[in-house]
Amino acid sequence: MPRIIIDCPTTGEAVPTGHRTQDFALCDVVEPRSFRCPVCHEVHRWLGCEARVEEVRASQSAPVH
Ligand SMILES: [Zn+2]
Repeated sequence: MPRIIIDCPTTGEAVPTGHRTQDFALCDVVEPRSFRCPVCHEVHRWLGCEARVEEVRASQSAPVH
């Protein structure tokens, strides 16, 4: 299952939120969620529309058209 990632507001790096998703309707996540950033170790809040889904390598899953 692909990971949900955001851009760390402190370092600008893409960091995983610790959540994973099967559906890609991230904008349906309207409540802010917080997580401890693995890069800068601060707590960030994110909303679905600010997050994105990590790209999955094609070799790990069958192509879907
Ligand atoms: Zn951070």
